[in-house]
Amino acid sequence: MRMYDIIAAKRDGKELDYEALKTFVIGYCDGSIPDYQASALLMAMFLKGMSHRETAELTDIMARSGDMIDLSGIEGIKVDKHSTGGVGDKTTLVLTPIVAACGAKVAKMSGRALGHTGGTIDKLESIPGFKTELTREEFIDNVNRIGCCIAGQTGNIAPADKKIYALRDVTATVDSIPLIASSIMSKKLASGADKIVLDIKVGSGALLKTQEEAEDLAEIMIQIGERNGRETVALLTDMDTPLGYGIGNLIEVQEAYRTIKGQGPADLTEICLVLSAEMLKLAGHGSYEVCYKAAQSAISSGAAEKKFIELVQNQGGDISVLSRDPLKDHCTDEVFANRSGYIQRMDTQALGNASMLLGAGRTTKDSPIDYQAGIILHKKTGMKVNKGDRLATLVAKDSGKMTQARKVLGAAYYYGESPAKKKPIIIARGNKNGIRRY
Ligand code: URA
Repeated sequence: MRMYDIIAAKRDGKELDYEALKTFVIGYCDGSIPDYQASALLMAMFLKGMSHRETAELTDIMARSGDMIDLSGIEGIKVDKHSTGGVGDKTTLVLTPIVAACGAKVAKMSGRALGHTGGTIDKLESIPGFKTELTREEFIDNVNRIGCCIAGQTGNIAPADKKIYALRDVTATVDSIPLIASSIMSKKLASGADKIVLDIKVGSGALLKTQEEAEDLAEIMIQIGERNGRETVALLTDMDTPLGYGIGNLIEVQEAYRTIKGQGPADLTEICLVLSAEMLKLAGHGSYEVCYKAAQSAISSGAAEKKFIELVQNQGGDISVLSRDPLKDHCTDEVFANRSGYIQRMDTQALGNASMLLGAGRTTKDSPIDYQAGIILHKKTGMKVNKGDRLATLVAKDSGKMTQARKVLGAAYYYGESPAKKKPIIIARGNKNGIRRY
């Protein structure tokens, strides 16, 4: 089958069969299909959409393009959690030790930053010495010994997705529901977990801005997981406001640590407890209520903190950084409210962009990260401010980075005369039986 005919068929709104999808994926990976033809097909997929069957088959082909990890060397049910990406999202750092402290195994493979959203691996690498590149044997051994491990994905997990994602990133084809579903689920299926909890972010800081789109994505991803024998639960969670008050790598690690110790912000604590409870339930630790209480006591008893320290030290990290002054050796700047009122909403993606401008993210795929840079928020949606109140502290290595970030941040706050309507952090929950809105 010629690539030209595959592109023309999708352009005309036709469904592609398994062979056509395979021709595209294999040909693009082995270099026989050039970028311009792959880009044309991705844009046709973006514009014309894909059926559930096409999405499931594309997922399967991408999952099998590399290694299918075998986690059978780890005893018990392995539950994975995946977030579609948000600003200030440090949930993996908090829930991994909580779930492990409750007795379930967490074998977590995580990614790096994508666009304006941070990545768990970059965050962990802000801890001096923390090793995220592990062999398969080291990874499995760590989970068996201490109950948890967080490592970077090896190059050979769904390599087709890696190549296609890089092309989508520069051809304006990222925010397509079937392409997001197949990208994420191909990696989840290849990573070998038995069960999957999805955290699908919705709002101004997320890939998907509306609840309807997020529900569609949840439905497709649940179907793909279940078809492949992986019980899958999806939570739709709010990303109209950054999670917690810290944005940036070390800043987020430190906020995660405070949360594990029971001193974290309410929104971050709640989402981590709910995700932990879902993971524990899938791992067979009892009803949702029992699992939620277990997660709460892991925090209050200090067991989660102990497990976090063990996780960091086991992977070579220096724990003294967890309580180090986050502003040390860096310049800071403050952003103040330019009027009085109630914060109605925030452009959360703009906050992610401001953090990147300060050096906390990558502007190109190989650019270095300043692990200490970022933003400490003092005010968020729903709060009352007086003109001149401090909204945020900016942290960067050199003061030249502040001007643009300040401008972006100042414009990201929207005010009104009355308090904003309070939104729940958990918006909906879905499983194979459907989606229930809260
Ligand atoms: N995260 C992914 O891994 N893939 C996407 O397509 C979007 C978010």
